[in-house]
Amino acid sequence: MTAFPHSNAGANIAPIDRVDEIFGRDVFSRRLMRQRLPKDVYKSLLRTIDHGEPLDPKVADVVAATMKDWAIENGATHYTHWFQPLTGLTAEKHDSLVSPDGSGGVIFNFSGSELVQGEPDASSFPSGGLRATFEARGYTAWDPTSPAFLMRGERNVTLCIPTAFVSWNGEALDTKIPLLRSMEALSRQAMRILKFFGSDFGVSRVETTVGPEQEYFLVDRELFYKRPDLVTCERTLFGAKPPKGQQLEDHYFGTIPPRVLAFMSEVEHELYRLGVPVKTRHNEVAPGQYEIAPLFEVSHIASDHQMIMMETLKRVAPRFGLQALLHEKPFAGVNGSGKHNNWSMATDTGVNLLDPKDETHTNMQFLVFLCATIRAVDVHADLLRASIAAAGNDHRLGANEAPPAIISIFLGDMLSDILDQVEKGLPKRTLHGGTIDLGAKSLPQLPRHSGDRNRTSPFAFTGNKFEFRAVGSSASIAFPNTVLNTIVAESLDHVATDLEKAAGRNPSTAKLQSAVLEVLKKIIKEHKRVIFDGDNYTAEWHAEAKRRGLPIMGDSVEAFPVLKNKKNGELFKKYGVLTKAELDSRQHVVVEKWVKQLVIEAETMISISRTMILPAAIKYLTILAASVSQLKTAGTASPDTAEVLKEFIAYLAVFRKALLGLEKVAGHHDDDPMRHALHIKHKVRPAMDELRVTVDQLENHVPYDLWPLATYRDLLLLK
Ligand code: ADP
Ligand code: MG
Repeated sequence: MTAFPHSNAGANIAPIDRVDEIFGRDVFSRRLMRQRLPKDVYKSLLRTIDHGEPLDPKVADVVAATMKDWAIENGATHYTHWFQPLTGLTAEKHDSLVSPDGSGGVIFNFSGSELVQGEPDASSFPSGGLRATFEARGYTAWDPTSPAFLMRGERNVTLCIPTAFVSWNGEALDTKIPLLRSMEALSRQAMRILKFFGSDFGVSRVETTVGPEQEYFLVDRELFYKRPDLVTCERTLFGAKPPKGQQLEDHYFGTIPPRVLAFMSEVEHELYRLGVPVKTRHNEVAPGQYEIAPLFEVSHIASDHQMIMMETLKRVAPRFGLQALLHEKPFAGVNGSGKHNNWSMATDTGVNLLDPKDETHTNMQFLVFLCATIRAVDVHADLLRASIAAAGNDHRLGANEAPPAIISIFLGDMLSDILDQVEKGLPKRTLHGGTIDLGAKSLPQLPRHSGDRNRTSPFAFTGNKFEFRAVGSSASIAFPNTVLNTIVAESLDHVATDLEKAAGRNPSTAKLQSAVLEVLKKIIKEHKRVIFDGDNYTAEWHAEAKRRGLPIMGDSVEAFPVLKNKKNGELFKKYGVLTKAELDSRQHVVVEKWVKQLVIEAETMISISRTMILPAAIKYLTILAASVSQLKTAGTASPDTAEVLKEFIAYLAVFRKALLGLEKVAGHHDDDPMRHALHIKHKVRPAMDELRVTVDQLENHVPYDLWPLATYRDLLLLK
């Protein structure tokens, strides 16, 4: 094992066991339950998991005892209800499994009621006004559909029980409950479409599936600690562009540096143990940027696993002397990080409803699901945009790298061609890609896809799923998926109603087909404006989108009010996903979080400027002034040195002016978060941008050994 600089790796690395032996070893899986639970208990539990039947308390007691025995055998001493409050993070409160036995020893105890319900103090989590501080009561409720797991730390093992978090009056205080509700809503409507086509046989529900690709940066941990901005904000607030950034494009899919590869293997090893099916690893576009992607799973499991994945990246990195940065834009001038949210719908019998199959133009059911999704994205583009609004994502969306802030759909040649045909009449053909001849006999002929890829679209059809690429890398995927499921549920409802009306009772095959074509034609006419297969980064698209009347929201502050729209409140209410109070609370929490993050950033900038940059600049100024005066004393004035001094005094002056400018506006407070956000957008952000320019200019003039911050070159090019 190579010893890595500044790291204690090696000692910690377990031999890489065979994946088939470790996969899911730390999960209280269905297989374990079947092996360990009495048959009737297991069956009763499955009825709860698979069909939502209420849980029998006696069953809970047996499950708890069995789960406890398994956890203790694996070294656990504590358990925790693991949940996802509106902070966008996970929360846990550990309780010991041990109690005194009354005669000087201990017993291990874990009852059904401890498994099923917990009561953390709800007042300390953001509730966006749902709960006042004195109304502290909140409950965590066991989610038996998401398996319990063991979290292994340094010399500790904790049994984690995935739970939902609700207030005393039943309002959702977390991100999981609305996601589950949205999946229900979509399933109900999708089943109507399946019934219409007579393909609901044996299907009891439709699930949404998600595979999130996670981008992240790695920096050396010692250098990380030399950057107060990275430590407090996870992004560099200053930093001059290095001569070598990503312009050579030599990092993407490049050879993975050995230290990073060792880190990745250990992350995968831990994720395998937790049953998280990680599949892909590679370098990303920017230097120091990487990606990890799992196989897709049912949405709420994928969402739980995504949280575990982010935590694991953070937890494992220090063992290799590294720090994982999940922020959307840790470095200016190189690409930011996103989370590509691959999404589809599938029956519980395993049929992917967005799979176009070979002769797509005859696959009417697919076209209905496709067009319903297109309609949803067009009608509710504002909501989709708002679902990914956050401080970090503001630096990414719209910049010339990530999907733009305008929501549009990429379909590709084959589907665009079919929709064109439908709009004109009966579709007659499906474009096929043929093969690519590589011109060398020894190489195989590759089947060519019927369309090229488009990496610039925020919502792209990629073969048999949609890829929502605008989700931020640090974000929980729960809310974006809640929105996606809800808007598609609404659209499927709309389409199903139209289809049922157009076809009438007991339609003949011909009638059915003409009804479908009629409904599809109407959707395509009304909503094709949201389809755009070109380059989303261009100014022309911006102008074109405006002409088409698509909503354009350049930043989060413009997007936040969308969550307050009456239309959106009614949508969530109608499909039983969020009450008005629950939606309002979410809006309040995201705005407040945005404001807090920016206040912290502004204050960090000021503090670094005052306590690090200014002293360093003055030190250099003193050196320059001393040399000018020493030269004079020696009787040999050097006009060049004097000029350098004069120039530097000018840089210092603009820096100090910008610093005073930021200090003047940063202290402002407003009790109303939205008004505060507007102040920050119009006054503080521009002042921050200005200060950054002047500091980066100083960095380019102060000697390297006097500069108090690790530079971009240090941070980005280190392997
Ligand atoms: P690419 O982005 O290059 O198309 P892949 O085809 O490997 O990459 O898929 C990327 C992600 O999409 C993976 O996490 C994969 O599991 C996920 N994915 C594939 N099929 C589906 C599906 N039906 N539903 C949701 N996610 C899917
Ligand atoms: Mg992808």
